[in-house]
Amino acid sequence: MSYETRNIINKIKKANLTGRGGASFPTALKWEMVKKARGKNKYVICNVSEGEPGIQKDYYILQNYLDTAILGMETAIEYLKAEKAIIYINKAYFKKFEKKLNEVIRGRKIEIFEKEHDSGYIGGEETSAINSIEGCRVEPRLRPPFPPTCGIFNSPTLVNNLETFYDVGLIVKNKYHNKRLVTINGDCLWTGVYAFDEEMTVEDILRKTENYPKFTFFVQIGGDAAGVVLNSNQLDCKVCGGASVTVYSVLKHEPFRLMKEWVDFFVKNSCGQCTPCREGTLRLQEILISKDKNWTIFSDILTNLPETSFCGLGSAASIAVTSYIKNVLLLLPSGKIKIPEADKKMLKEVFSL
Ligand code: SF4
Repeated sequence: MSYETRNIINKIKKANLTGRGGASFPTALKWEMVKKARGKNKYVICNVSEGEPGIQKDYYILQNYLDTAILGMETAIEYLKAEKAIIYINKAYFKKFEKKLNEVIRGRKIEIFEKEHDSGYIGGEETSAINSIEGCRVEPRLRPPFPPTCGIFNSPTLVNNLETFYDVGLIVKNKYHNKRLVTINGDCLWTGVYAFDEEMTVEDILRKTENYPKFTFFVQIGGDAAGVVLNSNQLDCKVCGGASVTVYSVLKHEPFRLMKEWVDFFVKNSCGQCTPCREGTLRLQEILISKDKNWTIFSDILTNLPETSFCGLGSAASIAVTSYIKNVLLLLPSGKIKIPEADKKMLKEVFSL
């Protein structure tokens, strides 16, 4: 093991690097857990499933900085003395980058695993990814045990997002400057993927990219399905999760249709393993398309989803809708947003404002 590899944990710690897949777990700690875990073989999985709408940072890395991400993976293989690394990649990206990937990984202990077509968003959850690679049903596993001690083929497994490996590659090259990739999209002019200082607020990001709207707007940060919705007075916070900022013009988006789009995503992507998520998201969908919306039941389901769902997908299913109702729908003055007065009154009551 080279001096550089022996020293890598200290460098990752010093950089304060946290996982870029959404959970923000300290990277060095995860690597050390796999290193210390007992097991004859160890594995590395690079998660390139990028299943949440509105996030394109993995695509951006594949297109522009694949070599640096591969350097990060090789560093992990060497540090852990791992059997191999597996790039777990979604179908669309595989199709687009297959040739490039095969060229770059040639002669290295790195393989590509194409994500199952119908495994959706949940196929990107780390234990679902492990199940998928093992040929099992694509659904999350009960934890503990966690992948660092018992992952693929019951062996210690390091699962990191592509951006995390890219950042490790930058750390190895002494070129990491505490930046993270942020996808900007929605009703703005300069959409795309940008690298920003981790401490930058959403407002700073919108102003710096000249995307700060002149119209009445709200944003969704951390993904276009599970991201939290904030109004224009709440932008003094950092981006979170998968790191995206989506701008919505209030006038362009009909409230009930927008909520249904978020809920539809979770209905479609629920793996069906647990009742709260499988049934709860379906009931939310039914209420949103019904004539007489029962907001009390709607609110109950939203409250129960994070408390009773088996995995993060079900827990996240309520974030966008709840934050949109509380931060936008009920705070904007009447006239700015059009929903029937009776619905607004009920929503105010059940959401305790
Ligand atoms: S919350 Fe339950 S049904 Fe939903 S994706 Fe997770 S395990 Fe599957």
